[in-house]
Amino acid sequence: MDQIKALKCVLCGKEYSPGEVEYTCPACGPEGILEVLYDYELISRRISPRSLKEDPDFSIWRYKPLLPVREDSPIPPLHVGWTPLYRPRLLNEKLGFSHLFIKDEGRNPTASLKDRASAVGIVKALEKGAREVTCASTGNAASSWAGAAASVGLKSYIFVPQTAPRAKLAQLLIFGATIFPVKGSYDQAFDLCIQASSRFGWYNRNTAFNPYLVEGKKTVALEIAEQLAWKAPDKVFVSVGDGCILSGVFKGFADLLNLGWIDRFPQIIGVQAEGASPLYRAWKEGKPFEPVEPVTIADSISVGIPRNRVMALRDLKTWKGLMMTVTDDEILEAMRVLGRQSGVFGEPAGVASLAGLIKASKEGIVQKEEAVVVIISGNGLKDISSALKAVRMPEPIEPSLSSVEEYLKKATSFQ
Ligand SMILES: *Cc1c(COP(=O)(O)O)cnc(C)c1O
Ligand SMILES: [Zn+2]
Repeated sequence: MDQIKALKCVLCGKEYSPGEVEYTCPACGPEGILEVLYDYELISRRISPRSLKEDPDFSIWRYKPLLPVREDSPIPPLHVGWTPLYRPRLLNEKLGFSHLFIKDEGRNPTASLKDRASAVGIVKALEKGAREVTCASTGNAASSWAGAAASVGLKSYIFVPQTAPRAKLAQLLIFGATIFPVKGSYDQAFDLCIQASSRFGWYNRNTAFNPYLVEGKKTVALEIAEQLAWKAPDKVFVSVGDGCILSGVFKGFADLLNLGWIDRFPQIIGVQAEGASPLYRAWKEGKPFEPVEPVTIADSISVGIPRNRVMALRDLKTWKGLMMTVTDDEILEAMRVLGRQSGVFGEPAGVASLAGLIKASKEGIVQKEEAVVVIISGNGLKDISSALKAVRMPEPIEPSLSSVEEYLKKATSFQ
């Protein structure tokens, strides 16, 4: 792993070598998130836009020299990444844009962006010779971790709030995970998981806590840039809970700028649900963060204690990013607009980003001629009970043509 220069603590700045520490900074404890620093000169000798052009591997592993894994580490079998970057014509027309792109992360193997992080995490677990792995999650990190573990024969132990959507629980059970549905919040499940992992020696994928996951998540930014022929977009909208995807997006574009593959940094806009917006508040008021009791339909971003807050707030400052919030109603409206104008079905957290774009456009934060990428971070089938709140289910009809005719007369009211 000579491509890694150091793991650097975001709090005290102390640097470690990758073999020296496993998770967070020993001096600072769980808040001392470690960031992976690379030797870009070395990496440039191993990979370039030109070499990528010849590379037939259309998955996150096309960027292996830019990831924190050993060159000879085997790659897990599930296909992760290289998700479509659409420019939906009708959505562009509806919202008045001409270069609005949708990155459909629901197309990953367990149907969310989390698969990018889990794939890298599983390689790290295998490099260590771990047989048992764990994580705490609102649902998507868990299902992706359990799926990735199953694909290579590792045993997974998963902590979720008992309120996690049933589809995500079903995924976990089908992947053979041992689940602990915790009578409490995600934030409590997170802390319990860390205790259990140190007690039982399970390899831990907890977001932010494990330094390598942001590296997996950054591949979404690498792909966006490559899919746009190494031209950075003007703006990128990202849904935010713990802030790891957000930092991953910053990290991906920062890598590309350091390598000289793009020539400017896009503006990154993080979107939180109004009822779960501690990062937004800390950013806006420039104050230390305060935990909240999260209340939102968007379960994947229903986070009261954002674990990656220090790094995320630093990144927003360094790269002049923005934060904003959207209401649950705006999220449901974005879900309908996306589905109807593009055929892409996102879960509530997955479309909070789009709700952010729609609001930002009304407020003049984004201009209609700008190139904008909206990351749709998870698939709508993961939480249909929320999706059904965005629509109205009609009453059943008699199996006769006359009842179809009658129904059609009323149909406008079912929009
Ligand atoms: C996890 C998740 C997010 C938020 O990611 P963070 O790294 O926690 O900010 C957004 N959308 C979906 C669908 C997710 O699963
Ligand atoms: Zn430290």
